Amino acid sequence: MTQERCEQCAQPMAAYDAIHYGSMETGHRLLCTQCFNVEVARRYGMTDLENVRLEPIDMVDSAGDSHRFHFQMRLLGPNMIVLDAFELREDVRAGYEFRTVGEPDDDVLTLLGRLVEKLR
Ligand SMILES: [Zn+2]
Repeated sequence: MTQERCEQCAQPMAAYDAIHYGSMETGHRLLCTQCFNVEVARRYGMTDLENVRLEPIDMVDSAGDSHRFHFQMRLLGPNMIVLDAFELREDVRAGYEFRTVGEPDDDVLTLLGRLVEKLR
């Protein structure tokens, strides 16, 4: 499997972490989630974005099966931030998937807490 690299920071990135960013006029670039958020924040003149990378967490369901959830936080505009939690199978999203939407100045941990409540 070939690993894609972010066209901004040149770091290798997992498929689930890659986002096409751009427009018809400027062309598209493949960015990692962190660089995507930086670009969006810059576009809207936002300087106080908490651009954190969230570590995966393991949760056990009522049947005793373990699920590993990965997180992706995306800034979608001056008033919207989306936090996804999802399972991976061979590096692509599969299984359970949850989403919570908040405001960019919400505390990331608050969003995460809300999402983890949904996971349970
Ligand atoms: Zn990057």
